[in-house]
Amino acid sequence: MYPKTLNNLIESLKILPGVGQKTAERYALSILDNDMEDVAQFAKSLIDVKDSIRTCTICHNLTDQEVCNVCSDKSRDHNTICVVSSAKEAFSIERMNEYNGVYHVLNGLISTQKGILPEDLTLESLLNRINDQTREVILALNATVEGEMTTLYIAKKLDGKVKTTRLAFGLPIGGHLDYADDMTLQKAFEGRNDIES
Ligand SMILES: [Zn+2]
Repeated sequence: MYPKTLNNLIESLKILPGVGQKTAERYALSILDNDMEDVAQFAKSLIDVKDSIRTCTICHNLTDQEVCNVCSDKSRDHNTICVVSSAKEAFSIERMNEYNGVYHVLNGLISTQKGILPEDLTLESLLNRINDQTREVILALNATVEGEMTTLYIAKKLDGKVKTTRLAFGLPIGGHLDYADDMTLQKAFEGRNDIES
């Protein structure tokens, strides 16, 4: 039986995805092995991230400012908008170092199964961002049923308003964008297609 404080830490660690009792125990004991200074820094990072991270008022990506680095970067092409379902995917694309446009994070995908409706996403704010200057909207959503449903829904909304493309799936069907390796993602980007709607 662990002492109460250690047990509290084990319980806290179990809120993380993929961390069960065994792993939580291992993590908790390894935290005990670290210097006080490192542990204090670790605790501070946890609080800081929760305290300071919010969503960009323009693109809804994660940021510690009002407007994210990408949206406030004048050297980027603000007339090309890449639509992704979550911040994690925007970071995957950013890591390629190839894309110079801006993003729009939907915060999910339309799902009849999970009861996620178009109005639960940041779609209205996407539609409000699009104007005469907008050159292209790239729909970079997962090759899953939900990704497909969302892609078609948005393509229909944007039909006649702006050139809308989707990634060429090189990505395997059923594939999640954030699991694609950089090369596959880059190919999918280069070979993007117009959407017929
Ligand atoms: Zn932004």
